[in-house]
Amino acid sequence: MEDRIYLDHAAAMPVRPEVLSFGRQFPDGFAGNPSTLYREGLLAQEAVSGAREKVAALIGASAAESIVFCSGATEANNIAVRGAALRNKKSGKHVVASAIEHISVLNPAKDLQKTGFSLTLAPVDRYGTIDLDALGTAVTPETVVTSVHYANNEIGTIEPIREAAEIVHDRGGLLHVDAADAAGRMPIDVERDGIDLLTLSGNQLGGLQGTGALYIRPGVRVQPVLVGGGQERGLRPGTENVVGIACMGEAARLAKEEMPGESRRLAAIRDRLISGVTSVEEAYLTGHPTERLPHHASFRFSRIEGESIQLAMDMLGIAVATGSACTSRTLEASHVLLAIGLAHEEAHGSMVATLGRGNSVDQVPRIVGAVEETVKRLRAITPL
Ligand code: PMP
Repeated sequence: MEDRIYLDHAAAMPVRPEVLSFGRQFPDGFAGNPSTLYREGLLAQEAVSGAREKVAALIGASAAESIVFCSGATEANNIAVRGAALRNKKSGKHVVASAIEHISVLNPAKDLQKTGFSLTLAPVDRYGTIDLDALGTAVTPETVVTSVHYANNEIGTIEPIREAAEIVHDRGGLLHVDAADAAGRMPIDVERDGIDLLTLSGNQLGGLQGTGALYIRPGVRVQPVLVGGGQERGLRPGTENVVGIACMGEAARLAKEEMPGESRRLAAIRDRLISGVTSVEEAYLTGHPTERLPHHASFRFSRIEGESIQLAMDMLGIAVATGSACTSRTLEASHVLLAIGLAHEEAHGSMVATLGRGNSVDQVPRIVGAVEETVKRLRAITPL
């Protein structure tokens, strides 16, 4: 797709070629189930263990066994929220989540209400930063799990995780952190940051879609969400996705190695893009101006609709998002944009650009030009 500019890395990251070649390490005709004891099985087991070490290293986990591989961030979030709440319900039947968590955290948290749990949503300020005083009130000694993401996928804001961890641990609960978008882009250290459960997405690291992992701090008790065999300590039963896991491990290794340089490079493009786009009439940055993911630029435009922006930009050869791909089919205003205090009509005019390896600073003038043209065209025909 020549001349296309892809700016939706939060929805899907191109799989890194180095990762794909790593996945081809297995000899032709290879089949091995890690639960078997013959040579093929041991080879598969080794591939999974190697990946576990690499993923643990990315997030500063000293025990590789603390990593449970699964099918993606959605599944990891479900195991963390549901699994930890149900397993620890003797300590209390209350969960807390920030109001702007991904729906794969919010929905299992809401679902727990059917089994007698109560849920409190902790508010955020106009930048999407969690209100730590409100969190301090929301979390009580009855709260078993509190979920605060490392960074938001729609507005890029990075949360004060260490402070949140202190509040949660003071009251004796567990902190779950969804780091699907932050991992590989920010130096995460589960031990330093006081994280009990951490969600990772393989694709967001440059691995295959449909791969992910949950870090579970040693000693933290979680019950399975799916039941079946004993794979992944019984927490993710079913034959392992050996090639997908191997690729996720390699993607984690590369991300760790390249993060400082690559994050700096992306942040420079992001800042140029933010400065260019916010100079368009009635265009505003959403999310935090400085405490934001290095690859993330998000905006809102008055009097136009996000879907129209997406289609018009597409015709100009540029792929952007309008909020989270996971909720794009609902056509409802984003719960994230409403929670940061935007009115419904403001929340509908959003555009999210997430950068990756294929982007360079030379693309910025073309992107900004396309945004200017799009906004002008759409405003000329808007009934709003
Ligand atoms: N959490 C966050 C913060 C995300 O950004 C996403 C994906 N956009 C998910 C969870 C869900 O990831 P997956 O589709 O890989 O399950």
